[in-house]
Amino acid sequence: MSEKKLEIAVYGKGGIGKSTICADLSAALAERGRKVLQIGCDPKHDSTRLLMGGKMLPTVLEYLRDTPAEETKLSEVLGKGYMGIGCIEAGGPKPGIGCAGRGIISAFEYLDRKRVKENYDIITYDVLGDVVCGGFAVPIRREYADAIFLVTSGEFMALYAANNILRGVRNFDGSLHKRVAGIIFNRRMVAGEEERVQRFAEAVKLPICAVVPRSDLFARAEEEKRTVMELNIPGEERKVFEDLAALVDGDLPLYEALPLEDEELEAIVLEGEKRKEKQPLSLDALKSCEECGLCEEQEAESPKLPSSRLPLYGCAFNGAATAAVHLTDGIVIAHSPKSCSFYTWQNISAPGRRNLFSRGILMPSAISPNFETTQINDHDVVFGAIDKLRSAVKEAMDKRPGAVVVISSCVSGIIGDDVLSAEDMSTDDIPVIVIPADGDISGDYMHGIEMCQRKIGERLIQKGLPKKAMTVNLIGEVGVNNNKDINYETIKRLLGDMGISISCRFLGDATADEIRGLTAAPLNILASESPDNMKLKAWLEEEYGCDFFSHCLPVGYSATEEFLSDIAEYFGCSEKVEAVLEAEREKFFSEIERLKPLLEGKKVVINTINADVDWLLDTAEKAGVDFAWIGVLNYLRQELRVTSDPARKEKIHEIKSRDEVFKAIEEMKPDLVITNYTETLKDKAFITDSLPMTQKVGFNSGIDVLDRWALLLENRREGEWTNDRVYFEKYFS
Ligand code: SF4
Repeated sequence: MSEKKLEIAVYGKGGIGKSTICADLSAALAERGRKVLQIGCDPKHDSTRLLMGGKMLPTVLEYLRDTPAEETKLSEVLGKGYMGIGCIEAGGPKPGIGCAGRGIISAFEYLDRKRVKENYDIITYDVLGDVVCGGFAVPIRREYADAIFLVTSGEFMALYAANNILRGVRNFDGSLHKRVAGIIFNRRMVAGEEERVQRFAEAVKLPICAVVPRSDLFARAEEEKRTVMELNIPGEERKVFEDLAALVDGDLPLYEALPLEDEELEAIVLEGEKRKEKQPLSLDALKSCEECGLCEEQEAESPKLPSSRLPLYGCAFNGAATAAVHLTDGIVIAHSPKSCSFYTWQNISAPGRRNLFSRGILMPSAISPNFETTQINDHDVVFGAIDKLRSAVKEAMDKRPGAVVVISSCVSGIIGDDVLSAEDMSTDDIPVIVIPADGDISGDYMHGIEMCQRKIGERLIQKGLPKKAMTVNLIGEVGVNNNKDINYETIKRLLGDMGISISCRFLGDATADEIRGLTAAPLNILASESPDNMKLKAWLEEEYGCDFFSHCLPVGYSATEEFLSDIAEYFGCSEKVEAVLEAEREKFFSEIERLKPLLEGKKVVINTINADVDWLLDTAEKAGVDFAWIGVLNYLRQELRVTSDPARKEKIHEIKSRDEVFKAIEEMKPDLVITNYTETLKDKAFITDSLPMTQKVGFNSGIDVLDRWALLLENRREGEWTNDRVYFEKYFS
């Protein structure tokens, strides 16, 4: 008798007879004196029934669901069957709920923790082969199966499943490992089955290790709730398993998995064609590739950053949640694991926390985002978490919010929770709005924001409301913009001075009622002309007949002046605008006068991406700054948008290499270098500062930037960073 330890996975399509075959193989091995454990990995959980004399064992998953972790005992799920064979059923969730694959993983993790395999020589896994997802593929991982048998009949779908299993094995093993033992052919006595199985075996280069005859003895054993081996009737039926057990127990040869392409499988199995050997790529083909050079050209046209340097984006779940929390009287429920919610909460609250933290204050819970989570856990993944979601929605509705917004994550998507069904819980006054973001599956951060805007808009915005005079909406503020609220306050003040009020911010801090009333405002102002905002604008125009103002939120002195004059004309309040402009002009020029002595004649080199900086150049020139050189990094090779002033255009240089920037700095000897790539200039320039990524709107956009420059230059004049020390001591000591 062999001493070897072995784990064998028996895979086959559902209903093909693999459980009967696996049980008879376990029985035959036990009769050879081996200590055998059979683990059933089919949610049907009847793999070990015949070994257990018809007794159905409680499944590991049922048991784990109903028993506190610290009270679990292996003996509760481990049965003792024919000839002492250990019997276990992994089990699975109810059909249509949860993730059976994850269930197998959880069951295996539990059995590993309990070191169930230690007392056995041979483990047989009886696995459903129809689904080859990560969970069902666990037994074919190398830490489990040493050998894999494919059970098949001659029907095409059974062979298709067998081929799929080979694909799974190939994915794990590549060509480095040989773990496939061969095919067990279960006869059904249908025409042509033998030839089909033969052709398949030949094509995938596997032996047919056993041919199980069609026999009434299997039905009789089934009726008597025993295996054929236990019936102990000499004959072909018994012999096939004795021989198979001897093969397993002996020097079992193993083979590489060589699955077929789908078309090949059909052609070989059904039409009798031969497998075509893949030709290695010929040297001629390689040469013509080199000659072509197209790939290199394409590379050069679209330079790519190495993947380690690409910026990271959030998922659609993250984007949708970031947008949804702006529904100020809503409650957002993330149907996700705790970690997805934690990371999203951190993202949402980061700007606020950073500001408070710099002043030594932790974020008070009262201003924490209105964001809750169902905290999907491992157990929910296996059994489904829709009930958990429904109770979270119910709890949220009891607080009487303006709306409940549910956002699904990858995990709820993968386990197939019917999240949209939560919308049925809406009442007349509290809508439940489900955003099926499903994490990364449905897109990235920006897709999530768009999904959220549309879904909330569709559920709340009322079409064709009577217009309310002197009101506007602000559209598309959401985004990574630390200045969002400052900008809102600025524009609200400037418009308010002319008697115009902001009715709704979509989607940036608005109540459900404000969004319902969006179409009552005669005019909409787009925050910026980003591609996403342009899509949002087109949608609001098309679906709700919204009219948009010709200007976005204005940045800088000239743009703001023009913005206010035009909006005053639109609302017929031009008489008010002059007073507003006069007051702002006075403030602006007194700021310029304050800055002039510090900045006049200072030489500045700018190194920018291809974005409009006229707002800054306008203000800086008024303060007497001398722009010696304006370098543009035009990565996307678009038309230059840096300035619309013809005189400034002459100073613009499209940067092709860093050396050009270094050369300009050496030649010009600027007082200040403005760049978003400070790192590269560390040793070249004495003082550098960055351009703000998101600008403040209004007359003073440029003044704020000049203030920083003045501070930097003044410090240099004194020769010490004295002011920094004062700030450091104030905030961080
Ligand atoms: S990608 Fe999926 S798992 Fe990751 S944070 Fe988003 S929802 Fe969660």
